[in-house]
Amino acid sequence: CRPRELGSQKGRKGRQMDSRGTDRHRSSTHRSGAAAMGGEVRTMGRIRFTLAEVVKMEEVLNNLKAMPKRPVIQGLTDDFNASPDRSGDDKVPVQYNQVHTWFQNRRYKQKRRGKRPPARGKKMLPTGAEAQHPASYRVQSSSPSNSESQSGNTSSDGGLVQLEAKSPRNGAWYDVAAIQSCRFSETGEQEVQVWFSGFGAEEEEWINVCKSVRLRSLPCIATECVGVLPGDLILCYQEGKEQALYFDAHILQVERRTHDIRGCRCSFLVRYDHDHSEEIVPLRKVCRRPCADVKIDIVIDDSLAE
Ligand SMILES: [Zn+2]
Repeated sequence: CRPRELGSQKGRKGRQMDSRGTDRHRSSTHRSGAAAMGGEVRTMGRIRFTLAEVVKMEEVLNNLKAMPKRPVIQGLTDDFNASPDRSGDDKVPVQYNQVHTWFQNRRYKQKRRGKRPPARGKKMLPTGAEAQHPASYRVQSSSPSNSESQSGNTSSDGGLVQLEAKSPRNGAWYDVAAIQSCRFSETGEQEVQVWFSGFGAEEEEWINVCKSVRLRSLPCIATECVGVLPGDLILCYQEGKEQALYFDAHILQVERRTHDIRGCRCSFLVRYDHDHSEEIVPLRKVCRRPCADVKIDIVIDDSLAE
């Protein structure tokens, strides 16, 4: 884990990006920058709702017992965007459609659970609230410096573990809303059936735990930009013509600029792992990997079943 010496590099203004990199990628940066500033309306691949937001939406759903009407969803969207978590230059605002989709999925999930007979053999997991109960699993840590295991559904002790999973379909990473069931492949590797956050049940996929499930990447706040260094593996928001998704990428170069009231103004030259394309992105598209080297081992916890 890299020590975060905030301030040590704060005043650094070195232009580390060479002209080749800068020129070659200028156009793509400008395009994506303009799209973001003009109020990106394209549906994002996924949205990272905060714990507070999910709790709020759960509350609304529990009170209404029905799909909220448009003004309610719009009100929630506005509330979320007014909070410090969403307002600011490097923050990602939430869109009406994303809140709407969350409610749709949540309703669908509730209905489906109601119809389903109780699972035998404790394989089936409850599909409860995403944030209060992100999934009924425990994550066993294999990191020597961090030997305690953390529960995926215990928020009271601060051990809230959130996961992301890589879809075999397109190689993009999505937040895990719930783990539906667990099995072992013919080669003895653990696989889990993952419910992706913001998607319907028909989008569930079986995912190899060892290769494609990990602790969730973390959006960077402005002061964390000094910790993003060349060579780092990051999760990066790639905006294509059709869709915008999160992919693994490596930082090639960083051009530091003095932060101002709008936050981080640095630029990051990244290379995506899946298509080897390069792009200059702002900090708000960069999610850093948690420092702890944790091997994910999903343990179905029966005590969390209801
Ligand atoms: Zn910065």
